[in-house]
Amino acid sequence: MPEPAAPNRAATAAKIAANPAAYKVCEGCDSIVGSGTSLCPNCHGYRFDPASERVVLQARILGSREQTSVTADDLN
Ligand SMILES: [Zn+2]
Repeated sequence: MPEPAAPNRAATAAKIAANPAAYKVCEGCDSIVGSGTSLCPNCHGYRFDPASERVVLQARILGSREQTSVTADDLN
């Protein structure tokens, strides 16, 4: 059975966890965004936690949930 072209949540989470320095976590909605983002595209918050351990933890949560909020791959 062929896989869809879009990456799944677990793969996205694994990619984020492998390079947490490139991401940060929104303090408003816990979305993971790129480190260069200044305004959260999900909740329009501007406070972020850039700690790698926080990013990795959040990536694991997102990768294990059925419903998730925005991940880096959704932002385009
Ligand atoms: Zn947010």
